[in-house]
Amino acid sequence: MIIKKRTFVSFDEFCPYECKHCYTYGIARDKIRSIDEIVNDISADDFDVVYVSQKNDNFSNPMRGITLCHALFDRYKQNVFAITRNVFSETELTELVALKQKLSNVSKHFFIAVSINATDSISISEDTSKTCTPRQRITFIKALSEKGFKPILMLRPIFPDRIIPVCECLQLITELHPYISCVVTSGLGVNEDILSRLGMHESDFRFSKDQEYLDGAIASEIRFVDVDYELQKIREKCSEYGVPVFLHSMLAEL
Ligand code: SF4
Repeated sequence: MIIKKRTFVSFDEFCPYECKHCYTYGIARDKIRSIDEIVNDISADDFDVVYVSQKNDNFSNPMRGITLCHALFDRYKQNVFAITRNVFSETELTELVALKQKLSNVSKHFFIAVSINATDSISISEDTSKTCTPRQRITFIKALSEKGFKPILMLRPIFPDRIIPVCECLQLITELHPYISCVVTSGLGVNEDILSRLGMHESDFRFSKDQEYLDGAIASEIRFVDVDYELQKIREKCSEYGVPVFLHSMLAEL
């Protein structure tokens, strides 16, 4: 399958996980829409995948996220791509399997991606009182694989090695490579608000020349940190295991 054109949807509430690196808190929200309104508000007409990811972790309440996916599919009959930092119960997993099957029945694909960007250092990036632990997410990825999914490891955002050691990311690839279809990765992006939540300063970073990702996707200014060394290490580790790796987003055949 080739993914060519994406459209993004999301619930409008602020995400309860409050990750320190998150850029979504700068996105304006005019109103809190119902699922029907979110589905109806898609204006693009030539997309081949709906990313259920934009302003929020749409699966902080898994059943609500799954209900949104059903509504999107029922209306547009397109591939659906879900991204989460949450883990699902057995009942919720069963519902997810039913959703995947519904898409498969008409040769469409349900992608599920789980975000983790650190293990021991997770508290640098996330509020660990609000998110599931990396170990819970690792277990969730394995459970998804056992249920017939080919989960995607969202290894992002990548911090400079001296802040979050890249070996933590490499260990994640080593442990998870039998269970995942690919790795999607990208570097940390910062603005003043994110720096303040991280307790860091612009002078703590070197910045990347690649500043185009997210252009037009969000209103707030984001500058991407230079993590070329760390991304190269991730590429090498993925190559060692034959795991496809994509920068920023998944564009290729799976
Ligand atoms: S889970 Fe995602 S949307 Fe929610 S705060 Fe973290 S990065 Fe932002």
